[in-house]
Amino acid sequence: MKKSFERYRRQLMLDGFTEAQQQKLKDSTVLVAGIGGLGGTAAIYLAVAGIGKMIFAHYGKLTLTNMNRQILMKDNWIGKSRVIQGMKSIKDLNPEVEVEIYDERTSESNIEKLLSGANLALSARPTFHERRVLNEACIKKGVPLVEAAMNGMEGYLFNIVPGVTACLNCVYPDNNPEWEELGFPVLGAVSGMLGCLMSIEAIKLLTGYGKPLMSKMLIFNTIDMEFRKFKVHKNPDCEVCGTALNSIDNFEAEYN
Ligand SMILES: [Zn+2]
Repeated sequence: MKKSFERYRRQLMLDGFTEAQQQKLKDSTVLVAGIGGLGGTAAIYLAVAGIGKMIFAHYGKLTLTNMNRQILMKDNWIGKSRVIQGMKSIKDLNPEVEVEIYDERTSESNIEKLLSGANLALSARPTFHERRVLNEACIKKGVPLVEAAMNGMEGYLFNIVPGVTACLNCVYPDNNPEWEELGFPVLGAVSGMLGCLMSIEAIKLLTGYGKPLMSKMLIFNTIDMEFRKFKVHKNPDCEVCGTALNSIDNFEAEYN
């Protein structure tokens, strides 16, 4: 084992997980669009797994009401910029990880910049509009996207692999569902669990390890621990991905 991989020794004991795959993680850049309860937890586990670089996009300062779920943050940082503090937390966990930060929401005007150099993106924004912007840009650029959202004790998760799977617009073609932005209930453990699942899917998509969710959506309700997977269908007439010319042949070969 490479000496520089000592930190990941226990991970490299995973059946079938190779040093070449560890190196792929090190060579990868992930856009984390939202470092709250979901994206922040995913970022922690990508960092300790040895991701090379993360780009954090999250607007605003830490508030007291963030503290029931945002475990990247510390109580005495309330009032400070979340992306700056988030970067500090990641550096404390694993100084080998590079972090680039933007104290910004995800929008049409900055998405090119945010996705620049990214091999994969995590969709953890609070508004559906921002998720659509991210979905469209990822389809256009051929960047796989891990899409996850939660509300209360429930959540969903699926992967958007351009040219292969359904995209967000295939699944939700109509006008934006009514989302109570910043008003919905959150149990921190639920957003944290979903963040962990996002990081697992990201690691699998980036390295080719295991079997990421492909054209399937995981839906769960932790109130009674019901977990289910549903098939999600790519719409050939989808306005976002239906005419996409991106053919990610490698993904098809690797996962189908
Ligand atoms: Zn689509």
